[in-house]
Amino acid sequence: MANTKYIFVTGGVISSLGKGIVAASLGKLLQARGYKVTIQKFDPYINVDPGTLNPYEHGECYVTADGYETDLDLGHYERFLNMQTSRTNSVTTGRIYQSVIDRERKGGYEGRTVQVIPHITDEINRNIKFLSEQNYDFIISEIGGTVGDIESLPFLESVRQLKRELGRNCICVHLTYVPYIAAAAEYKTKPTQHSVKQLQELGIQPDILVLRSVETLGTDLIHKVALFCNVEESAVIQSVDVDTIYEVPCRLQQQNMDVIVLNKLDVKVSAEAIDMKNWNDFLQRRKAAVKKAKIGLVGKYTKHKDAYKSICEALMQAAVYNDRKLDLQLILSEDITEANVEETLAGMDGILVAPGFGERGFEGKLIAVRYARENNKPCFGVCLGMQCMVIEFARNVLGLAGANSAEMDKSSPHKVIDLMDDQKNIIYLGGSMRLGSYDCVLKKGTVAYLAYGQELIQERHRHRYEFNSEYRQQFEDAGMLCAGENPGTGLVEVVEIPSLKWFVGTQYHPEYNSTVLKPNPLFLSFIKAAIDKQ
Ligand code: GLN
Repeated sequence: MANTKYIFVTGGVISSLGKGIVAASLGKLLQARGYKVTIQKFDPYINVDPGTLNPYEHGECYVTADGYETDLDLGHYERFLNMQTSRTNSVTTGRIYQSVIDRERKGGYEGRTVQVIPHITDEINRNIKFLSEQNYDFIISEIGGTVGDIESLPFLESVRQLKRELGRNCICVHLTYVPYIAAAAEYKTKPTQHSVKQLQELGIQPDILVLRSVETLGTDLIHKVALFCNVEESAVIQSVDVDTIYEVPCRLQQQNMDVIVLNKLDVKVSAEAIDMKNWNDFLQRRKAAVKKAKIGLVGKYTKHKDAYKSICEALMQAAVYNDRKLDLQLILSEDITEANVEETLAGMDGILVAPGFGERGFEGKLIAVRYARENNKPCFGVCLGMQCMVIEFARNVLGLAGANSAEMDKSSPHKVIDLMDDQKNIIYLGGSMRLGSYDCVLKKGTVAYLAYGQELIQERHRHRYEFNSEYRQQFEDAGMLCAGENPGTGLVEVVEIPSLKWFVGTQYHPEYNSTVLKPNPLFLSFIKAAIDKQ
């Protein structure tokens, strides 16, 4: 196709309606018709990227293969579209301002007054269009926040400008909420009408509305919304609460959303059927799974379901491909003590010790790891989780009293996890960790090697500390193997205890590389071991 078409996804009424899921689902449908699609997210906050945000603020920080810390919606895009995103797929207000201010400092504006319009909006437009150089048929741009927010205004002004410039090559899909008022026993469309009015006041007429509601809305309501919002009735799509987010593409397809989008963008709708077979097979398999895989996720952000989003999704996908229903138990590591660990973890089929930073809940993770090691419970340590496996082994098997990570105890006599050399002089926290995809060579015969089925793999990273290689021999002599390392630096990437059923820690984050159609091999192997009772 080549003549790139632009689709903006905006949201109104309230946040958390699932704009990212709608964007990803629409992208999936277009991709399933054979088009080349990408999705990008614009976040109105001032942080340059979400890397410095507490996961309770916006959920997990998702890391792209090219080493950029991004919004968790990029994880949805990758999981739905089975593609890799990059730093160009995630832009914040902070980053826009940073590049405008950099340019101003270099004299790039030649004496002109730098203003929100046109300079900030021009920079936003440039970022929106940037991906078109890569020959995409469709670029879907999700605008974070809610219409009416002060900080979203420059982004919406950009949408207005681009709609005007691009004409039939650009549409706006607006997602709103239709609440059910129990006292009146009615669904109410007024908030939707107001939110569309607000968009119209900003000069944007949405082309398609997606109404999120708990149940299916009657045709009278759809008629009313279409009339008052100036949208064709067929272009009012419903997004009813579903069992799993992966059903959303199917629901949108049932309402012909892909065809409506193509028509509005003047793209000839090919007669060839849309190919959703593998996707539907996954959903079928998910539905058919009855037996459970009970996994305890030991972490410190258990009150926010999005804090470990990619891990939860990777576990779910792996469970489905093992014909199991994931029974995920979020366990607050701070609550784990020597006295209650047995009672807390004995019922789990497997334990995953989560990534993280800082001391809170750290000792609880060590207790969980010890329990798993001593009771031969399948255990998966990811990043800090892997570091916990190393520290616990040092303290309780090697007898290195006070062994620790330099992150937790700078004066530890045995820093078995230490700051990486190139991290020693870093002052700025943002974007300065070891980030993104690196090669790892797996040792033949190890659990990790058998899982991936190959020696050379690439996985993504986000850490400052590393396994201290001075101790490597001591660990290997006592039974903890370095099963994978970076071929260039020798950095230990995977540890295993081969005498146990499944005890693997990865310095990298395999969860970022797990999609619906291509689940991560190590997660598959972990779930398989967890449910294998022999
Ligand atoms: N805090 C650890 C480090 O910086 C682990 C990071 C993580 O779990 N992502 O090395």
